[in-house]
Amino acid sequence: MSLTCGICGTKVEPAPGAAIAATDICPGCSLRVRHRAVHAWMAATGVDPTRAGTTLACNCLPAEQKFLFPSIHRLVNFDIRPLPYVDAVMDIHDMGRIEDASVDTFIALHVFNHVEDDGRALAEVARVLKPGGIAVLTIPFREGSPTTADADPLETYGSESRERYGVADYRTYGRGDFRDLLLAHGFGVEEFGFRDPLVARPETVFIGRKRA
Ligand SMILES: [Zn+2]
Repeated sequence: MSLTCGICGTKVEPAPGAAIAATDICPGCSLRVRHRAVHAWMAATGVDPTRAGTTLACNCLPAEQKFLFPSIHRLVNFDIRPLPYVDAVMDIHDMGRIEDASVDTFIALHVFNHVEDDGRALAEVARVLKPGGIAVLTIPFREGSPTTADADPLETYGSESRERYGVADYRTYGRGDFRDLLLAHGFGVEEFGFRDPLVARPETVFIGRKRA
């Protein structure tokens, strides 16, 4: 049985004694379940929302730019941390330097769980998007469960990240709660379900379309 990365086509061997790969990180492109889900959504719809106009992205990794969005037209890539590959150091809670209704596509994959006030950040995303513009979002969530605070907010990034930049593991979403949060901030919501071929894990891409 062959496990194949849908993004780069690399064939991955299952872990010894298992039917799935040992990790979701593809050895060919270094991308993960969330990225393969977005890739599958673009393949299923025939739409690459980064091909035209302006894309604003929070922490779009170099490998995402190279393999997942290779046709990106105009990217403004930001993070609150001064990462070497970002264009702007900017707080998603206050993107004041981005004009209202000036962005065609907003991308944030597994970002909102690390944002302290996710509602305020989503209001900012809605403000900068053009009417009809879309936000492509993934988040860690549980089915049939409400949003819950994570037990250890420092697990992923440690204490310095929280103290200096406010970046921490704040919560794991409930699916319905995240959908409601998008609806409450002026988005129409589409959910694209995906099952990853490497690790057989489900993922959902939330596509929020700013209502005109
Ligand atoms: Zn790959």
